[in-house]
Amino acid sequence: MNGSLGGRAVVLGASMAGLLAARVLTDRYDQVTLVDRDELPLHGDRRPDAPHIGGQRRGVPQGRHLHALLARGAQILDDLFPGLTADLTTAGVPSGDLLGGIRWLVSGQRIARVDIGQPVLFPSRPLLERYVRDRVRALPAVTVVDGAAIVAVTTTGDRRRVTGVRVRSATDAEALIDADLVVDATGRGSRTPGWLAELGYPSPVTEKIRVDVGYASRSYRLPPDALGSDTVILQNWTPRHPYGAGLAQQEGGRHILTLAGMLGEHPPADPTGFEAFVDRLEFPDIGQAIRYGEPLDAPVTFRYPASVRHRYERLTRFPDGLLVIGDAICSFNPFYGQGMSVAALQAQALRDVLADGGPRWPRYFAAVARAVDVPWRIAAGGDLAFPGVAGRRGAMVRLTNAYLPRLHAAAVHDPTLSAAFVRVTGLLDPPGSLLRPDRLARVLRPDRLARVRPARSPGPGGHSPNSRQVPRSDRAT
Ligand SMILES: Cc1cc2nc3c(=O)[nH]c(=O)nc-3n(C[C@H](O)[C@H](O)[C@H](O)COP(=O)(O)OP(=O)(O)OC[C@H]3O[C@@H](n4cnc5c(N)ncnc54)[C@H](O)[C@@H]3O)c2cc1C
Repeated sequence: MNGSLGGRAVVLGASMAGLLAARVLTDRYDQVTLVDRDELPLHGDRRPDAPHIGGQRRGVPQGRHLHALLARGAQILDDLFPGLTADLTTAGVPSGDLLGGIRWLVSGQRIARVDIGQPVLFPSRPLLERYVRDRVRALPAVTVVDGAAIVAVTTTGDRRRVTGVRVRSATDAEALIDADLVVDATGRGSRTPGWLAELGYPSPVTEKIRVDVGYASRSYRLPPDALGSDTVILQNWTPRHPYGAGLAQQEGGRHILTLAGMLGEHPPADPTGFEAFVDRLEFPDIGQAIRYGEPLDAPVTFRYPASVRHRYERLTRFPDGLLVIGDAICSFNPFYGQGMSVAALQAQALRDVLADGGPRWPRYFAAVARAVDVPWRIAAGGDLAFPGVAGRRGAMVRLTNAYLPRLHAAAVHDPTLSAAFVRVTGLLDPPGSLLRPDRLARVLRPDRLARVRPARSPGPGGHSPNSRQVPRSDRAT
């Protein structure tokens, strides 16, 4: 192979970031070994609804919640695995247009809908991961070592190079796997900062934005017309109304409803409380859509305390033979739906760096930082719109947070603006594109500014005026 580095790369963690890293590494290494603590289900059963529950696994507890695959992420997946999104559609994953097929309820406004020719998919997380894992497993260079916990990395005597990894099986048997390159994709709990300290290296500076987000999710069988012509309803939160939600059609004729609350306003796990939380949403759409639905499971919750970014690119000393990818570098407030797509952007960065001189860590971490910068600014900027979120609010953050509600208000009747907005949230265009002079002129038209309203605050008892118009029905739990 042209530009082959030979030898073996070992990837720690076989979730989305690890799988995408493994795919890219097969371009340059003779052998790629993927290690994960979980037993990784084999595909086998291709029935559309089979993987939904059966494919959930311990190492990815977030898999029970709505996982948006952003438009940019889907493009990269199709680039790395040609035909992947078509396979998902064949497996029964509904596809809709990014703007025409999604009901976007943002800043207390329903922005204009029109097809923009950009399809998006909302597969269940286990199904998506399983399809990607199958593609990776089918690559001749790849070996999967599952049911193996990573204990430590091994190094040369002078500790300047990582030489492999020590793993432990469920029966406590330990084994060494030698590697020319180790890539840590073990997610938020990554132990690389600790390993660095043990090996006498500085640990990266870590930025944290405390958001205290709570999630609760539940699956439903809904009547065919429950969402009208939409495949998804997305409702964001605002500082005055910190409750958000997403209701998406998935494979197997199911819908998943994920409720979310910022700064301690968490949706509960008990079915009655879960439904009461739906009543607190600013728009009645989701309450109406599930009104005649049949719940298929009990709500499950997830708590996400803080977005975290490790600044590996600022280190001046780091061992050779080790890289880090995915949530292990940067984990975002999940409400922005960015994690998997950013892992894909990082995998692209890894591919480029490997192609241009091999796995040199300073270049790699610099490239990854560039990939992370924009999504981090979007997520951190959105979080900092909440006065209760601590952090520095520079001029750009303040400007953006003042401008976006105005853009959303103008986008109610202006599909050019709603298209521009969803392309930015889908990581297709940079945030600066919203400030283009022609778009500024559309947003700042006096008749449109008059329509800007602060997001409504919850009424007494946390109920919004809108939700009280929605009759609730008794539902099975
Ligand atoms: C509630 C929630 C909702 C989310 N929603 C979205 C969304 O809508 N869209 C989106 O793109 N992203 C979303 N994300 C983020 C997304 O799940 C992650 O960004 C994505 O999975 C990539 O993470 P990763 O592969 O780096 O790590 P993870 O997914 O955390 O995987 C880590 C892997 O490492 C393995 N592992 C960990 N430690 C060890 C060890 N010691 N030994 C062996 N194996 C180990 C685990 O078993 C696991 O397989 C959400 C996250 C959360 C928490």
